[in-house]
Amino acid sequence: MRGSITWWLLVTLTVLVSMALASKDYYKILDVPRDAQKAQIKRHFKKLSRVYHPDKNSGDEAASQKFMEIANAYEVLMDDEKRSIYDRYGEEGLKNGGGGGHGFGGGGDPFDIFSHFFGGGHGHRQAQEKRGPDIAIPLEVTLEDLYNGAVIEVDVSKQVLCDHCHGSGARRPEDIHTCNTCDGRGMVIKRAQVAPGMFQQFQQQCQACDGKGKITEHLCPSCSGHKVRRGNENYSIHIERGMNDAQKIILDEEADEYPDTIPGNVIFVTRTAPHPVFERRGNNLYTKQHITLIEALAGFKKTMTQLDNSIIELEREGVTQYGFVQTIKGQGMPLQENHSRHGDLFVEYQVIFPTEVDSETIEYLKKGSTFAPDNGPKLVHQEL
Ligand SMILES: [Zn+2]
Ligand SMILES: [Zn+2]
Repeated sequence: MRGSITWWLLVTLTVLVSMALASKDYYKILDVPRDAQKAQIKRHFKKLSRVYHPDKNSGDEAASQKFMEIANAYEVLMDDEKRSIYDRYGEEGLKNGGGGGHGFGGGGDPFDIFSHFFGGGHGHRQAQEKRGPDIAIPLEVTLEDLYNGAVIEVDVSKQVLCDHCHGSGARRPEDIHTCNTCDGRGMVIKRAQVAPGMFQQFQQQCQACDGKGKITEHLCPSCSGHKVRRGNENYSIHIERGMNDAQKIILDEEADEYPDTIPGNVIFVTRTAPHPVFERRGNNLYTKQHITLIEALAGFKKTMTQLDNSIIELEREGVTQYGFVQTIKGQGMPLQENHSRHGDLFVEYQVIFPTEVDSETIEYLKKGSTFAPDNGPKLVHQEL
């Protein structure tokens, strides 16, 4: 009998030691308490993966390692079965295939998990949780950004849960007790005598715990029990080629954080800054070009610079009327749904007239009038 107890102790110790040596603490990696709800795990994962995502740390091996670690921890803690195996047996338990866990081999690519958040997917949120308000933020973009695509870094100041107590307001999880007065119900039943021998029962909010059902013995030293603080979050906003003005870019559940509440969305709304050369209408671009009188009369070849710095050739033969609009196919904005297709460019020509003309030239031109058709240059005018 004693032998078997010693044997059990030995096994337990070995397991504990090997856990300490080999396994990573998934809860620490994601910076969540051991009893964290999925919503909280998800939020922390999103926050961390924004910092360590390879898109932001290209070539940084340590960051990419860290990202894989975060994604792995996230996958395990979001899966009820894997999480319970991990809680009991640590990382080793998962490796041994306990409960048919299949890690990333069969599960999913960490990048898929990440893109799932930012692709506008709605996930599976718990219906019983409250939801905070959305925040709309105007996002100024240039026409170049919309033509070429861009990544814009934005700092958003917002309310976040205290990272010391994870929004519980308590110094430690053990400092939160179930209220003895109401047994955690938050309500107490009172009996009042309304007439001799007649009692009425009614419910009242528990005054000992203010209806919360829980009492916090020691407040969190970091937030003094307020549960939240002001924070700052950095986002990389992807501007897709051909995106429109006033287009919404939604970051799911990134608005202000409140305890026991799913944050609302942060909604960035694009606002195109005025451009000195081009004006955009739908997928088409409009511009005005100045030409000299000689160019207007004799034709020209010139170039202008496109929004991606490529060169657009402008060519006209013969006379170009003031205000003539030339259509250049395929030099408009790229289409958001198909980047290889473009709208058109409309170039309006404005003729710059000379400030003065010498009398000799005037005389010469006058000879071209209809009174002397055979002697001078021909000027053919439109019928007025
Ligand atoms: Zn706190
Ligand atoms: Zn109570």
